[in-house]
Amino acid sequence: MRRKKSNASALMAKLLMVVIVAVAIYVGVSDTFERDEPVIVIHNTEYWNLKEPISIQINDQSGMTSYTVVLKTQKENFDLAQEMLMTPNKELKLNIKPPKRLFGLKEHDVTLYVEANDASQWNFFKGNSATVTKKMIIDKKRPQVNVIANSRSITQGGSALVIFKASDDNLQSLYLQSSNGKKFYPQTYMEAGYYASLVAWPVKEKNFRMHIIAKDMAGNLTKKYVPFYLNNKTYRTSKINITDRFLDGKIAELAEEFVETQGVEDRIKRFKIINEDVRAKNEALIHKITSKVPEDIVERLTITPFYPLKNGKKVASFGDHRYYYYNNKRVSESYHLGLDLASVQMGKIKTRNSGKVVFAGDNGLYGNMPIIHLGMGLYTLYGHCSSVDVNAEEEVSAGMKIANTGMSGYAMGDHLHFGVLVQGVEVRPEEWMDKQWIRLNIENIFKSAQKVINRS
Ligand SMILES: [Zn+2]
Repeated sequence: MRRKKSNASALMAKLLMVVIVAVAIYVGVSDTFERDEPVIVIHNTEYWNLKEPISIQINDQSGMTSYTVVLKTQKENFDLAQEMLMTPNKELKLNIKPPKRLFGLKEHDVTLYVEANDASQWNFFKGNSATVTKKMIIDKKRPQVNVIANSRSITQGGSALVIFKASDDNLQSLYLQSSNGKKFYPQTYMEAGYYASLVAWPVKEKNFRMHIIAKDMAGNLTKKYVPFYLNNKTYRTSKINITDRFLDGKIAELAEEFVETQGVEDRIKRFKIINEDVRAKNEALIHKITSKVPEDIVERLTITPFYPLKNGKKVASFGDHRYYYYNNKRVSESYHLGLDLASVQMGKIKTRNSGKVVFAGDNGLYGNMPIIHLGMGLYTLYGHCSSVDVNAEEEVSAGMKIANTGMSGYAMGDHLHFGVLVQGVEVRPEEWMDKQWIRLNIENIFKSAQKVINRS
């Protein structure tokens, strides 16, 4: 009997061991006893404009049973959210709108406090808990933007100057944007808080509106309209009949140069590729080079009217919309985005303004071409040169000879293709060649802005 009893207790002990091991394994592997704290992620950035909800995600293996969200300031605590959950939730996504009371808060520096508890039986059935805090800055104020001075009018295809004041404690981005989507980036003007930018109305756009867009870190946005008198301008459209001589001459010659036309036998197709695809590629390079604006402080832009070629006679205008016909059928079109000037063969090209050479080399249809930056994102371009005297990165001074005219690239005779660009947009060279225009639209704007700044 005794022996039997001891046998039974040994069996009991063995059984107990099995149960303990089983429980231990269960506690070890099951979610019921998991030891991982809930993972709390606050999606908001440091800056909060009280418009966006507070967005929090909490994940946990065994599921949450409760959470608390509190906004702590120096003086008081604001309960943003609090909940006890009957059924544990493994993934919680909270979007908490700020309570109305917060809008009257004077303090800017606050702390967001989030606590979550899970359903685990670990920790003597208390479960795991996690807390996360995040310092936040409340910023409800929109950036302040005021136009100080701007060119009174702008012409389709032309340029203008805008000077303005912008202030915000946490300014993130600042630019001007025209109705067609083009962005112009200002430079700090004279002192911190003031800005100046040249802007352009692209020749192909019928409509034009300009806004200054300022955005802060908290997402507050200000859109300020810049008033301009708009001068719509009708540019010339011309019909050009292309001849066999042209297709077998200049076009055949160019076709040998370009990758795009290799193996293309059809003469019209070849012309189309050169006039459209190669042109687009060449213009893209020009736009890329001339889109850059310096980041330093600007005090003014002094421009002596451009006069690149002595006794240069205008042979084609800026803005011409050219339609090409072959056997009375329209085959292609393009815009002429510069002013063509011709004088003598290999005429001397001079710059009247100091600047920096940003490109000097071959550019397809434009041939040998230097580009000079004159400041504030204003560039001049000289196409079809027979020779170029300057190198990229070189500084040039007023009066310097930079190149000779020629017929490199897509040119039928010796001439200069003179281009002017404002932050990557081709503009009317005529304006920058006119002393009166420069005085009214650039010099006077700087002067009146200076007066305003000196008074403040
Ligand atoms: Zn031209």
